[in-house]
Amino acid sequence: MNRASRPTRFPLGLDRVVVKAPEARATDPIRPQRPLQEAAADARRQALPTGVGLDSAGVRTRMVSRLRAEGVADEIVLSAIASVPRHAFVDTALVVQAYEDTSLPIGHGQTISKPSVVARMLSLLMASPYTRARGHLGRVLEIGTGCGYQAALLSHLGRHVVSIERLRPLHHKARELLEPFRRHNVRLVYGDGRVGHAPNAPYDSIIAAAGGDELPQSWLDQLAVGGRLVAPMEGSHGKGQVLMVVDRFESDWIRSVHEAVNFVPLKSGIA
Ligand code: SAH
Repeated sequence: MNRASRPTRFPLGLDRVVVKAPEARATDPIRPQRPLQEAAADARRQALPTGVGLDSAGVRTRMVSRLRAEGVADEIVLSAIASVPRHAFVDTALVVQAYEDTSLPIGHGQTISKPSVVARMLSLLMASPYTRARGHLGRVLEIGTGCGYQAALLSHLGRHVVSIERLRPLHHKARELLEPFRRHNVRLVYGDGRVGHAPNAPYDSIIAAAGGDELPQSWLDQLAVGGRLVAPMEGSHGKGQVLMVVDRFESDWIRSVHEAVNFVPLKSGIA
């Protein structure tokens, strides 16, 4: 079902908007009162990113302020986060938590990552000297589409985004959830992201939302010279997962290891 046609139970004000619109019109002697559903549909349309929703935009702005206070300094990343309604990508029952800094279930044993971790990974990608010079992420490969939230953010930060998902129901769900946002620079692919996606390679930016024991060779091969990859990966000496950054130069791939993270596993094959 298209999310735009779902009953909105957004707890932080949209319900109030839905109810108030017809009341205001009821006092207008000239214009007839519109049906409640029509007003509700208007409110939902307003929640979409093009005409960003009243209160949902407010909570998003507050989330962005919190991220900034916690040290996220990349204003381009923050403005992408401010413009994509995270609540549109989670289940209706979880909408109340959509702007908390927490990962949330998206079905099929998978999760949408914490906003602070998403912001951190996108900031690491943006901080590459080549990306800074270019001003955007260029051609992007995302492994692990999940519900499509991060793909939506990437579409604001890159020129073209290819996002791969190995679970067919999630691939379809992401397509449905992204559809109202009309991000025409995003291509969703159903497949095993461990092999990357050769038809659109090389990529200036590669980001993985699932962590394996090692980085697949295909990702390193499909990274453009001057490109950067950010991925969770099992650290050495059983230290648990860490964020790994790889920069590709003419003949070298330089790795750097960052903080501990906790992502779902990178799996083989499709399902
Ligand atoms: N970026 C996502 C987070 C999804 S969680 C979002 O914003 O919602 C990680 C996703 O990686 C899961 O959906 C999981 O199915 C997927 N995944 C795990 N291994 C994969 C693989 N080999 N290829 C593609 N996707 C994979």
